[in-house]
This record gives sequence, structure tokens and C-alpha cells, in this order.
Amino acid sequence: MSRNSELFERACKTIPGGVNSPVRAFRSVGGAPRFIERANGAYVWDADGTRYIDYVGSWGPAILGHAHPEVVRAVQEAAVGGLSFGAPTEGEIEIAEALVARIPSIEKVRLVSSGTEATMSAIRLARGATGRSKIIKFEGCYHGHADSLLVKAGSGMLTFGNPTSAGVPAEFIQHTLVLDFNDNEAVEAAFRQHGAEIACVIVEPIAGNMNLIKPQPGFLEGLRSLCTQHGALLIFDEVMTGFRAGPQGVQGLTGITPDLTTLAKVIGGGMPVGAFGGRADVMEHIAPLGAVYQAGTLSGNPVAVAAGLVTLRLLAEPGFYEHLSEQTRKLSEGLAAAAKKAGVAASTDYVGGMFGLYFAESVPTTFAEVSRCNVDHFKQFFHEMLNRGVYLAPSAFEAGFVSAAHDDAIIDATLVAAEEAFAALK
Ligand SMILES: *Cc1c(COP(=O)(O)O)cnc(C)c1O
Repeated sequence: MSRNSELFERACKTIPGGVNSPVRAFRSVGGAPRFIERANGAYVWDADGTRYIDYVGSWGPAILGHAHPEVVRAVQEAAVGGLSFGAPTEGEIEIAEALVARIPSIEKVRLVSSGTEATMSAIRLARGATGRSKIIKFEGCYHGHADSLLVKAGSGMLTFGNPTSAGVPAEFIQHTLVLDFNDNEAVEAAFRQHGAEIACVIVEPIAGNMNLIKPQPGFLEGLRSLCTQHGALLIFDEVMTGFRAGPQGVQGLTGITPDLTTLAKVIGGGMPVGAFGGRADVMEHIAPLGAVYQAGTLSGNPVAVAAGLVTLRLLAEPGFYEHLSEQTRKLSEGLAAAAKKAGVAASTDYVGGMFGLYFAESVPTTFAEVSRCNVDHFKQFFHEMLNRGVYLAPSAFEAGFVSAAHDDAIIDATLVAAEEAFAALK
């Protein structure tokens, strides 16, 4: 028996499902999850000592490659100086200044410890600042696991949604409207009907939690103008896309300015850091200045902030994103070519250091389209790649992540494996 399987059996005795976050359990692809012993650069090693080229990158944070020596050194040095104080530090000012300087819409920012906390807090702030209750989210966009966001669409376009998790009372989500991503008419209709009650629209401006789905021309512009017109706040959830899709997130790529932005993943460089920020007049509604309560014992943790600061500094080096995006392009185009060669219906897309692989003839633009991808082909492909030393996200509905450590030889090795894997699909 492999050590991965042994560890999984052991884990299942004390940890529900053997994992601390559900997608890690390999439920949607089958088999025992790989227990990771260590990681370096573009590689992870499992408990059997098998090496994999990693396209999960801790679900996004590992943009410099795993265990980047400068990040590790910063963490070690910070740790020696104390792990947590529950009092302000200069490092927090430095990371706030870096975020304000780099993300166009952020004038003031508060640190938290996860993406979930960032979005949950941003929504509370939007409600507190506008004095309104309703929020709009889009089907297939994930904003963490706060109660009011675990919602799927109801039966009709403008009916309120249904909880996607047990334990979320229907009353808790009665203010959440769930609409289709890339459907401007639905948003217009929602504002026509509920305009004066809508506190905010929250959106992944490039969706990365239903595979990779880009906004169609006019979608984000439409959200911006409807929010402005109706006095609602526009929240870009850039927890995944921030410093990943480009140096200023999707707002930098599109020139569309949200009122609030949520960040996490990359900004912690692998340590738990999240943030929400935006217009100063809105941010000033938070305690201790304003009436919207928000707090955190470990918020702005000095060790986590040290990792984030070095990461942000390295990301600012000239040519970083050009290189990252070029490596991602080679992978994305190579995967599409390999599928074509094998006669498999698959397409790909990418932006910055994120990519999508879809078992569909063409790149999907809606949740309905992405839901129709050939999941059976994905499962087979996932295991064929794993057996050839390539670790993809264990779900057909996740984006993939490339790091600066994915050099040409690593991309080429991935494409050799992919040609064989596509050819092996039944
Ligand atoms: C990962 C993610 C979250 C949740 O972040 P956690 O740190 O896992 O709580 C929220 N929004 C988006 C867009 C994400 O990708």
C-alpha cells in the first residue's frame, strides 16, 4: 500500500474526510489524495517520494514557485522576532502602502487572515456604508464560505437563491440575489426591481472558481455603471486574480475601478493573509472610525506579513508578469495543440499566471456552458497526468496556476505527458 493511502486512512480517523478543505480529498476525481511532504520551485513531493510538476501552487499563492529562498528567509527572520503581538507593527504599514500604491482602486486597506474573511468583511462594510441589505452575486463565482455567499440560483432569474450548504438557514440568504455571470440583462432587471435596496454587487472579475471564465466585453462595464447609477458598491473579489492575472489584478487589465477590492492568496506569499480595501470614504465606516465592526486576533500577523512583503517586492521586478504570462501561454497553447493531435475535444484559455483547460470544443463563457464540459474526460486526464508526474487541481472546475519557476523544460515535460494523457482517453 502506498504511504499516501496509509496516511489518508489514518487521517480519516481524526479529520472529517481526512482533509482540512474539501477539494483536497480527490472526491471528484477518485483515488487517495497525495500527502505532500515538501515543495520547491515548480515541484511538490508526496509521501512516497514521488515528484510532481505542480499546477495547483497552493491554489494560487505560490506564484514565485514553492519555498522561494527570499520568502523563506524573511519568514525565518520575522519568526525570531516574535510570532504575534496583537499590537500594530511597521510591516503592516509597509504592506498597506504597497497595496495602495499598486492597486488603482485601493485608497485604504485592512488586513485579515483569509479570503473568506476579506469578502465577508467587505460585504458587511458595503451594507453598513449604504444602509442597504441586498447583495448580488453570480452563479459559479466563489467568495469563500460565509453564510450569505453559499447560495445558488433559485428557480427563476429574480427569485432569491437556495443555500448550497446545510447549516445555512434560508433566512440568512434571503438578501442574496444570484444571477448569471456575463448576463448584463439579468443585472439590469435586478436593479430595476430592487435598485434602492442593493448594497453591492460582488464578482470575480475573471472567474477562477468555475474553471477560468473571462468577462465578455461590456459585462464589467455594465456592472460599474449600474452600481454607480443606483448607489450600490461594486466589489471585485480579486482574492485569486490579485497579483495573479496581472500586476494590478483585473482592474489593471480592464481599467474598471471597483469601490472595494478583496485580496488574499498571492499577497501572503503562502502564509495566511487577506485584505479588503477601496475608497477611503467607504473604508472609514469600519471600526474604530465607523460603526461597521470588524476585527481579528491574528490580523496582520508579523510572520505572514513578512512573507507577503517580500513576495510583493519580487513581483515588482521588471518583466516578472511578461515572463509569467509567456510561460502560461506556452502551456495553454501547448495543451490545446496536444488535445487536437489526439483528436480530443478540448480547449484552453489563460490570463497572467492562470489557465483553464476545458473538455469542450470551445472556451466556455457561462456557468451553464462550463457545466456541460466532459467531466469524465477530465477525471481520466487528471489521473493520466498524475501517473506521469503532473499534479493538476483535482476538479474539472478549477483554474490552473503557473509560477515563475515553471521554466521551458518543465512546460515541455508537461506537454509530453499531456500528449500521452490525451491519447490515452477513452
Ligand atoms: C480562494 C478564494 C476565496 C476564499 O479564500 P480563502 O482564503 O480560501 O478563504 C474567496 N474568493 C475567491 C475569488 C477565491 O478564489
